[in-house]
Amino acid sequence: MFVFIIYAMTSWYFAARHRRTWRGAVSVVLSLLGLMLIAWLHIKLNHWTRGVVSLPLMQMLLYPYALMVVAVAAFLVTLPRRTFVPGRCVMCAYDLQGLEALPGQLWLRCPECGEDHCPRSLRRASDVEHERELSLARSATRRQRPVPAPAAPPSIPTAAH
Ligand SMILES: [Zn+2]
Repeated sequence: MFVFIIYAMTSWYFAARHRRTWRGAVSVVLSLLGLMLIAWLHIKLNHWTRGVVSLPLMQMLLYPYALMVVAVAAFLVTLPRRTFVPGRCVMCAYDLQGLEALPGQLWLRCPECGEDHCPRSLRRASDVEHERELSLARSATRRQRPVPAPAAPPSIPTAAH
């Protein structure tokens, strides 16, 4: 019984993990093939033992189980992969540009779904690149600035008289 739960969980994990890729499709096909193998073994066991080992209940349970495992895996494998779009909520893709974190709060809360975001991570890649160029330009001008001449040494009081 426990084996069936692990089998289903493993199938669904690989289907979800590799969704929308050929690996995900292969994992669904493999889980179907594995279940077909078990069903075939059930029938063959009956034949090989001349009816001594007959598992009609197991066979009756296996078909709906197989259908459920493969159907859920097939559903999981078709789910879209989440892609990060700068400036948008990672959960619901709501456009968060121009929104500011509330005073005293480090996180920006999505008004649509309530997901918290780090405001820095929301900036568009072009903005980050622009800021980097600006800081590079600033440090370059700082380096080019003439070094101030060292202060004149303190004048040595001349011993008069
Ligand atoms: Zn959201």
